[in-house]
Amino acid sequence: MKLVLATSNKGKVREIQALCQDYEVIPYSQLIKEFEIVEDGDTFKENALIKARAVFNALNDKDVIVLADDSGISVDILDGKPGIYSARHAGADANDKDNLYKLIDDIKAKGVKSSPAHYTAAIAIVTKNGEYCVHGWMYGTALTETIGEGGFGYDPMFVPLGYDKTLGELDDEIKKKLSHRAKALSLAKKIIKSF
Ligand code: IMP
Repeated sequence: MKLVLATSNKGKVREIQALCQDYEVIPYSQLIKEFEIVEDGDTFKENALIKARAVFNALNDKDVIVLADDSGISVDILDGKPGIYSARHAGADANDKDNLYKLIDDIKAKGVKSSPAHYTAAIAIVTKNGEYCVHGWMYGTALTETIGEGGFGYDPMFVPLGYDKTLGELDDEIKKKLSHRAKALSLAKKIIKSF
């Protein structure tokens, strides 16, 4: 079965492909030209559904299953920010590194060296037969330094609960077991199997 991802984020594509090895998983950009999707929802769920619907409607194949991931990091000392704005934390054109260092500066500005934080992933599934959305979370600590080069996005500053290394240092296999995305995808796969 083919799953089309409504994302061009290489980190997400790589992780979702590794977590869904029973399926052929392809980013939508392999089928149609990438287009801008305005994520103007107020929640991870709304934004995931906006992305999945936009790609489903743009594809000419109504038998396709489209999956979208909307995710981000919420830091306690910042009252849950950046949350749904994680991809734009350092501005509209910011890249992952800009966002990472801006988040570190924001936490430092509160006068602390670290803060409890969590990642959220909402995975939306859109098919001709209906729409679904599931969530997963990963709790841990956001540091004011980066350690390691693994993962993507905010991973080099995030230590998962129960570990003493960042996701930048830990093996991909560990993130595969723990992550917000892995938890949401395990629920999504149950829904997909039921089709
Ligand atoms: P989205 O494409 O709007 O869902 O943006 C997600 C944002 O959260 C991006 O800035 C990502 O770098 C960040 N993010 C989401 N999931 C992860 C993760 O597993 N590790 C690190 N950063 C993540």
